[in-house]
Amino acid sequence: MTQAPLFRRVALVGIGLIGSSLARALRRHGLAEHIVCATRTEQSAQTACALGLVDQAFTTVGPACDGADLVMLCTPVSTYADLTPHLAPMLQPGCIVSDVGSVKQLVVRDVAPLLPAGVHLVPGHPIAGTEHSGPEAGFAELFEGRWCILTPVPGTNQAAIDRITRLWQTCGSSVEIMEPAHHDKVLAITSHLPHLIAYTIVGTAVDLEDDIKAEVIKFSASGFRDFTRIAASDPVMWRDVFLNNRDAVLEMVQRLTEDLAALQRAIRWGEGDKLERLFTRTREIRRSIIEARQAYGPFPPTQTSVATPTRETDNAGD
Ligand code: NAP
Repeated sequence: MTQAPLFRRVALVGIGLIGSSLARALRRHGLAEHIVCATRTEQSAQTACALGLVDQAFTTVGPACDGADLVMLCTPVSTYADLTPHLAPMLQPGCIVSDVGSVKQLVVRDVAPLLPAGVHLVPGHPIAGTEHSGPEAGFAELFEGRWCILTPVPGTNQAAIDRITRLWQTCGSSVEIMEPAHHDKVLAITSHLPHLIAYTIVGTAVDLEDDIKAEVIKFSASGFRDFTRIAASDPVMWRDVFLNNRDAVLEMVQRLTEDLAALQRAIRWGEGDKLERLFTRTREIRRSIIEARQAYGPFPPTQTSVATPTRETDNAGD
């Protein structure tokens, strides 16, 4: 027996990597009767239609959100404050507004106060991504085997949370509920700091003299290459992440600086045992991540269940 779609009309505001992956997954799993999108440029609107991602594409958010029972914000988080006043008047009571943004306290600040009574806000963040952008970059399997974190504030309509949970579960994700501030702290260390480090290392290499720079590229497979993939992530998205999760990121940078200073001292004083102890502990972390099936690797998983189709190359950008 085929089930009725979870949503009648889904409006995707933004149809880049994440929006277009969601559109593909919604189609594949029959989660929406109609899918429409709003983009900034006519070109992306045309591409979304040509790829068959949506039934209709707009370049303004109001008409796209008119009559929607789900509005999903899939634009850079700095756009939320400007876009929400244009979409809010179109929303009917019962409509759910959600998002995929990489920082979550900002949603409570920039979106929640502008929504009409009876509209349910269920912010979310799929922990999945790549370093690519735009409607052509998406793929339906992006969310499979990944986590999606939802950050509803206390008092949010439970039925709305359940529907968004079902949406992400049907797309292949496991769902966890978290407080927005806790999300931003956890992601500061698991995602934002690694990206900051990658941007820094690649930036340092760019500033080297020309002869060394050429060899950095030539011998990049020795480690540098992995940083360049992360550092190729979308500049606008990452500018927004750092500016909107400033406190948590700065706290993690402070801790990293202290730990780096300790490592520097250990190297200077030839304290090999300290280095070896740390590197043994960090190796264990890698093993745990593989066992949690959030990465492929040389350590065999302890469970014999089917491995998720997680692609190691898709780990940047979330
Ligand atoms: P993307 O590929 O660059 O796509 C951004 C989309 O937003 C495009 O469709 C763009 O339209 C549209 N857009 C930008 N500014 C707009 C505006 N002012 N009005 C209307 N539409 C606008 O970005 P993405 O990687 O999908 O990221 C989207 C969101 O997902 C971000 O909030 C990010 O934090 C979050 N996220 C990203 C990843 C990742 O790995 N990339 C992972 C998890 C969550 P045009 O094409 O017409 O410019």
